[in-house]
This record gives sequence, C-alpha cells and structure tokens, in this order.
Amino acid sequence: MPESISTKQIMINTPCAICGRITETSQIYPAQFYGEIINEESFSARRFYNQKIHFQVVSCLKCGLWRSDPIIDPEQICRLYQGSKFTYGIHTKNLEKTYGHYLKKASKYISKSERLLDIGCGNGFFMAEAKRQGFKDVWGVEPSIEAIEQASDLIKPFIKLGVFSANLFPSDYFDVITIFQALEHFVEPGKVIEDCLSLLKPGGVVLVINHNISSWPVRFLGESSPVIDIEHLYFFNGQTMKLIFESNGFLVKKVFRVFNRHTLGYLASLLPIQPIWLKDYFIKFLKLVKIEQKSLILPIGNVGLIAQKPK
Ligand SMILES: [Zn+2]
Repeated sequence: MPESISTKQIMINTPCAICGRITETSQIYPAQFYGEIINEESFSARRFYNQKIHFQVVSCLKCGLWRSDPIIDPEQICRLYQGSKFTYGIHTKNLEKTYGHYLKKASKYISKSERLLDIGCGNGFFMAEAKRQGFKDVWGVEPSIEAIEQASDLIKPFIKLGVFSANLFPSDYFDVITIFQALEHFVEPGKVIEDCLSLLKPGGVVLVINHNISSWPVRFLGESSPVIDIEHLYFFNGQTMKLIFESNGFLVKKVFRVFNRHTLGYLASLLPIQPIWLKDYFIKFLKLVKIEQKSLILPIGNVGLIAQKPK
C-alpha cells in the first residue's frame, strides 16, 4: 500500500535555513492541497505536472530565503521519497549535457579530478558523465529505491541508498561534490552544506544547481510555476544560495545563470495548461509534427553556484 498522509495532521514549523529564525516571516503563497492527501506520487521527481499542491510558502524577513512552513513530519517526508517513482529517465541525456558542461567549469578550481560525490544522483546518469570526464572514484547517494534499480550495473554498486549525511563517507575525501535540483528537497539544507564541507578535501569544490525563484519564468508564472511545489522545502535564488554557503564556511567562487538543454516535449509538460487533456493534446501534436525531441538551450529558471572549501 502506498503511504498516504492527511494534511489534517499536526504540521511542524520550519526555521530559516540561513539565520535559524522561526518567526519574522512574510507569506508569499497560502498552502494549497489537492484532496488533502499527500502520498508517494506527490514526491515523485519530475512527475507529470498536473496538480498544484504546496505547503504555505513564506520568506524570511532577514535573509530573503523562501521556505515551506509549516510542513508535515520530516520522517514521513523521508519515507515518501523512498517509495517515490523515478520518472525523468527520458530527460537525462539533456541533463547530462547541461550538468557536464558546468562540471568542466567547476573542475578548473581543483588540482586533481579524482573523487566525486553526486547527492540525489537518481539513476546515476551524471556519475557516468563524471567518469567520462576522468573522475576515477565516483559515488552517489539517492533515497529512491526505484531510481537506483534503474542504474547501470557499472554504476549501481557505487550508489548508497538513503538520505545524504556526512557519516556515509570519510572526511576530507572528495575533490568535487555535486547537488543538482536536490538541495531544495532537504529538511535541513544548512546541515547538508556543513556535511559537504567536512567531506571535501581542503580546496575541494561543490557545484550546485537549483531552481531560481528570481528568474523570469518563476516570476512570470508566480504560484503556477512548477517550482512552487510540495516537494520543495526551500526555494533559492543567487543571493540566498551565496548566503547559505558562506554562512556554512564555504568561499563562493561563482554564482551563475544556468543554460539548460531541454526538449520541446519536456518544456511543454511543464506548462501550466488546464484542463490537463489540452496539455496532453498539445504534447501529442508536438510528437505528430516530429519536433517533440528538438532541443533548445535556454536560461529558464535555474541558478548555479561553485563554492570552495578553504585550503
Ligand atoms: Zn533568515
């Protein structure tokens, strides 16, 4: 039986992940639930976007960091991720190219490309790209059992099942740690960053890519944006990414707009078209005229950061 959680249960307040304050917030969007039930479907990565569900979104008045507040019990969130479906398999080719491009940029800051860790690695597609770029010792961490089952035989033994924490690996071990579209999902992103600092060698770097709440598509779509979603517990922009890494001991080297490669079919699946049959029809039309798989490289709504552990 898939686990379901009624949103009528007790909700828990969240602190700002930068300053730790629970109070002093302003509301950005009120909570919105569909049928008042949250289940594994709600937590499946890149699920076909059709239902608008999210917790209340607030902004910290001091730091400007947006967060979901209040949320359901974090332990239940972890269990939902374990059972979540891995549905972005067909898009991994484009993600691999996008992320691979930025890994080359991050590698310029390190002396040796030897050991890499990918947090929230899904089926390990990016781990394979890191190996192609010369990294010899490549690891991943992923909470979804189904995602790991889809990993290739060469990659699978190097993926640890579970939620990332520092005790999974030795200290001062990695040259690069990558976190793609994953930091927003953590209950304590500050702790994740602190753990990255302890696992990196002195001079090692993190490469992080997140949705950007200050980007034009998110600003234009507002609450209809796929970024405003129950899966996201924190919502970043360039400024708050820089703040959270600096407050956890990193030297921020670069904050940049990410140019993603996307197929038209994928972009169409993200559009807030209602009713849903109309969107289905539109995607079928793209297939019919054979442009569904056409790729575009656009700066649509992601922000990246490269930060270094002090030497
Ligand atoms: Zn704050």
